[in-house]
Amino acid sequence: MNVEKTLVLLKPCTVQRALIGEIIQIFEKKGLRVAGLKMMQLDDAILAEHYAHLVDRPFFPGLKASMMATPVVALALEGVEAIEVVRQMAGPTNGRKALPGTIRGDYSMSGQQNIVHASDGPESAAAELRRFFRPEEIFDWENPLDRSLYSDDGC
Ligand code: UDP
Ligand code: MG
Repeated sequence: MNVEKTLVLLKPCTVQRALIGEIIQIFEKKGLRVAGLKMMQLDDAILAEHYAHLVDRPFFPGLKASMMATPVVALALEGVEAIEVVRQMAGPTNGRKALPGTIRGDYSMSGQQNIVHASDGPESAAAELRRFFRPEEIFDWENPLDRSLYSDDGC
């Protein structure tokens, strides 16, 4: 049973549009468990690390500014194959290309102001959870309802 944790950031566009609760609810309704949750102001250093693959791109300064416009909400989400599930829920990067039914497809018209960040694989999920949460800020709690979410073998 491949239980994973993944990192989601609710971006400043989401905070400004008062969609924090609505987007968290989408993940909760799906059956993902909130294992960590906090609001934080990002700065140059953490964004240079987080978006290291994009630092040389022309849009990087604008991306950085958009990510520092307000605090973000960081979520650690847990579930079976949670990393891929959350990426699928987020949809493709550009909200105009993302299909309706995905978060970006339903809430975004932008390739930058696209509501959520979601880790894109096991290595990045582990590194990003460490980047945004101290170990004691992530909780493993018992949920009796797991029996109605998954079969005994996690299927
Ligand atoms: N981004 C942007 N312009 C682009 C491509 C990406 O501003 O042309 C921003 C966008 O906010 C995106 C983030 O950079 O979510 C990270 O890009 P990545 O390619 O990792 O996309 P993601 O994993 O978020 O879908
Ligand atoms: Mg990415």
